Amino acid sequence: MRLSHITIQGFKSFAKKTTLDVTHQVTGVVGPNGSGKSNIAEAIRFVLGEQSMKSMRGKIGADVIFKGSEHLSPLSRASVMMVIDNKDKGDVAHASETLAPYLVYDELTLSRVIYADGTSDYMLNDAKIRLKDVQELLSFAGIGGSAHTIINQGEADRILLANPRDRKEVLEDALGLRMYHMRLNESKRKLERVKTHVHEVELLRKEIKPHLDHLKRQVDKIEAASEERNKLHALLIAYLTREENELQALDERIREEGSSASLILITDSIQKELRVLKDSTSTTQVTSTSEKHTLQTEMRGLLERRDQVTKTLGRLEAEKAYLEKEFSRDVEGKAVTLTHEKWTTTQTLFSHEIGALESALTASDIQKASTHVEGLKHEVNEFFGAQDKGDVTKKESLKRDIETVTQAIVEHEQKEQTLSRDVVVLQEKIDAIDVHAQTSLQSRHEEEKKVMTLQSKLRELESTIALRRQEEGEFSLRKQHFEALREEGVLIVGRVVLEYKDHSPEERFRDTPKPDILRAIERCKLRIEEAGVPNREEVIAEYASTRERDEYLARELTDIKDSEEKLLTLIDELTTSLEERFSKGVEEVSKVFSEFFGEVFVGGKGKLVLLQLTKIDDEGNQTIEQGIDIDVSLPNKKVKEITMFSGGERALVSIALLFAMSSITPPPFMVLDETDAPLDESNARKYGVMLKRLAEKSKLLVITHNRETMNHCDMLYGVTIGVDGGSKLLSINFKEAENYSK
Ligand code: ATP
Repeated sequence: MRLSHITIQGFKSFAKKTTLDVTHQVTGVVGPNGSGKSNIAEAIRFVLGEQSMKSMRGKIGADVIFKGSEHLSPLSRASVMMVIDNKDKGDVAHASETLAPYLVYDELTLSRVIYADGTSDYMLNDAKIRLKDVQELLSFAGIGGSAHTIINQGEADRILLANPRDRKEVLEDALGLRMYHMRLNESKRKLERVKTHVHEVELLRKEIKPHLDHLKRQVDKIEAASEERNKLHALLIAYLTREENELQALDERIREEGSSASLILITDSIQKELRVLKDSTSTTQVTSTSEKHTLQTEMRGLLERRDQVTKTLGRLEAEKAYLEKEFSRDVEGKAVTLTHEKWTTTQTLFSHEIGALESALTASDIQKASTHVEGLKHEVNEFFGAQDKGDVTKKESLKRDIETVTQAIVEHEQKEQTLSRDVVVLQEKIDAIDVHAQTSLQSRHEEEKKVMTLQSKLRELESTIALRRQEEGEFSLRKQHFEALREEGVLIVGRVVLEYKDHSPEERFRDTPKPDILRAIERCKLRIEEAGVPNREEVIAEYASTRERDEYLARELTDIKDSEEKLLTLIDELTTSLEERFSKGVEEVSKVFSEFFGEVFVGGKGKLVLLQLTKIDDEGNQTIEQGIDIDVSLPNKKVKEITMFSGGERALVSIALLFAMSSITPPPFMVLDETDAPLDESNARKYGVMLKRLAEKSKLLVITHNRETMNHCDMLYGVTIGVDGGSKLLSINFKEAENYSK
């Protein structure tokens, strides 16, 4: 790449559009002080993307815009355009995507416009580009930073006075390593971003991990529960089928053998029958018994009364016989007068003594018997003594007594007859009752037999009912349990449970006892409940999406780590390449510097020294950095410190160094603004020689007041301030003039 020409418009003192042809090897710019020569160098800095206003002797961006003069109005924008010849095309393999499309053109036009508000636009071949792209283009063109390509007035020795680290940077620029540095920095920035990204992604994964683990456990539970549900379904099919069959059989048997309710009806009718039987038996029995009892009481009364009458009759007859005997004795002369009262009393006394005598005899009590015999004797004597004194007048009375007694006898005989008749009638009645009782006893026996049969039937029925009730209770309990289990099954497994009849039980449960199946069902239910996860579908969906996200993050992490790896490799390569190139470049520059130095200071020695500097950052980390030191010794002088050199000596050393640097990777151009100012005539000549050597590789724009330097120019521009107050250019082509003079 070579500089072709520069067009300035509105920049500082160049109000009007002014173009400088810089196609010659050495272009000189001459003119009086303040005419605007340095403004040309600054215009070049400006278009190359200079950001420091200070290096362009301004404070703010707008300071570089033409401020107006007596005859010209101030402008609102300044622009500088640089045309670069790109026919030789460089190696575009390393160019960025933005720049690469332009690098194929033969000519590149880089321009910068600054506006009153201080904002700038950069253009490459009329397309807007960024400052970053400008810097890359410059790096690509080997211009790098402007430190060594545009040497400001009075700043030639800046490189000498700079510290080893800054010096190293200038040297790197000069060696065209800026591009590598940019790449390296870019890669490092990318690496930082990648590391941040890695950290973020790892953090995200770390964040979702507990949730993912939790969801995984939930899903495992759901899957385990699902397996349990399948097992429960199989168990329910086995149980429900078997239990339903058994219940059906039990129900049929109960129906066949009669339900407890129907048996109770039978019992009721039997009991009714029994009640009827018992009632009729007891009524009949009670009636005949009480009737007989009444009749018998009546009979006893009758018999007593008849006995009484008979007894009275006997007594009367005895009395009559006595009376008649008394009467007849009286008739025979030996009649005994005896009153009825006397007779009764005597009879009682006799009866008493005789009774007592009989008792004594029965008891063989002789003494007592003899006493009563004596008593009896006395009574007899008493009785007969009285007779002796009997009253003959009582014959009449005896007759009356006989008649009275006879009357009484008749009356009592009639009475006795009547009573006897009554006894007969009563006896007939009693007999009739007995006959009836006999008959009813027979029928009662039959009824009792029937009652007993019915009672035994009743007992049998009652025990059957108790048994049936037990069976019915069992049936109803089993049925309830059956239905409850079925409903529970529907809740846990689903309505598919109701289709148990459509499935045949699994082989493995066919011979399992029912209680074992029930226990297994309970265990299943428990396990399902333990594994109970609410909102199953949502949990599964959430697990899937969270796992997907985690997998995506894992993939992303792999990709990022991959690019991190690549970046690290690239950084490593770039660092190695940079170090190698730099070391090599330093060596080469040092060699050329030694040559130049030897030419400028005959007998003097100069070289560059690569330093290893320890750098400690804010966090206390130590790194090793490279730096450049300049080791010079002037002929016949002991002073080695550059700061102690004269201004001319410093200028020569720095020019030798700048030229040496530029000769290794020659920039397309260099601007030297009065670099030769401090030189005396003899050194100016040496400067001129060096200029010539440098011009073989780079185009030079030299601003000078030195005639010696002007002699080395192929093209000379004269700058003046025009009548309007703006800078103007006048050109003299020395080559053409020389040719013309020849
Ligand atoms: P010397 O030989 O003394 O170094 P020079 O030729 O290099 O002088 P410059 O320094 O390039 O001169 O030009 C400075 C001139 O430019 C000054 O006269 C200054 O007034 C003028 N100038 C600087 N900025 C502006 C501006 N924004 N608008 C108009 N003129 C400006």
